[in-house]
Amino acid sequence: MTTAAAELAPLLASIAEDAPVYFGQGKVNGSIPLLAKVDPKQFGIAVATLDGGIATAGAANVPFSIQSISKVFSLCLALDYMEGDLWTRVGRNPSGQRFNSLTRIEQEQGRPMNPFVNPGALVVADCLTERAATPVHTLIGFLRKLAHSQRVNCDYEVAKSELSTAFRNYAAAALLKDYGNLRCDPRAVVSAYTHFCAASMTCVELAKAALPLANDGRDAKSGAQLLPAGRARRVNSLMLTCGLYDAAGDFAYRVGLPAKSGVGGGIVAVVPNRMAIAVWSPELDALGNSVAGFAALERLARDADLSVF
Ligand code: GLU
Repeated sequence: MTTAAAELAPLLASIAEDAPVYFGQGKVNGSIPLLAKVDPKQFGIAVATLDGGIATAGAANVPFSIQSISKVFSLCLALDYMEGDLWTRVGRNPSGQRFNSLTRIEQEQGRPMNPFVNPGALVVADCLTERAATPVHTLIGFLRKLAHSQRVNCDYEVAKSELSTAFRNYAAAALLKDYGNLRCDPRAVVSAYTHFCAASMTCVELAKAALPLANDGRDAKSGAQLLPAGRARRVNSLMLTCGLYDAAGDFAYRVGLPAKSGVGGGIVAVVPNRMAIAVWSPELDALGNSVAGFAALERLARDADLSVF
């Protein structure tokens, strides 16, 4: 079933108009000092469809910190380098623990539960640090290519701010190193990971960057195979089961789409063979997901009948 972006425009406008209802119900991320200063009362949404169309509403062209959403793209890149090997080092199951938990590393003898919890993303960052001369430039270049935007960049101030308080990620990296699951210096790995998270993108750019995940890895416009065939299906399955922190089950129930959220307030969702959606609103619920973003995706999926189930 194809959907033209223009058909969704009125629904997106209505969703953006209602978004302020959710303002004040969550809290802006407090763990990254610079992000704590972001104006909480913002909302943007963009949909990129396979026919090349874009529909937007609200602050869809305002750049924000994609944070953990970057884990989807760093995973896609790391799989280029070492598909089989990566899965001996990282699992593919939900963790049932906070995304930055250290206890699971001990329980699993240094093999993180999945690539979207921080320890798993650190192993992914280790793969990229080992193979790419400048891992941050490699990831940003990949995002620019996917998003068709040279504006995409790393916000070095956000990375610096996070590194000043990244004690838990340093601890996770040290533990992974101790278990022999990092090949590079743990400090270099945390630095690369933190800079990946500090990628700054707009909803429009993020929706476009995720569109190949809805198109079996192909660029919607040129048809170029940007990800190997079959990879999108696998990455989408991980997003569905592990992409929304401890709310992945609730999100699958209420929205029914593969998605990944970040503590910057963004959520990206994939509608296989149809479209990609990016939504952003900085206030987070207790599990770390954007309150207005979650609600927006629930309404969009319901009213446009997008659930994969
Ligand atoms: N850079 C953040 C951290 O490592 C990302 C958290 C997130 O978005 O889930 O804590």
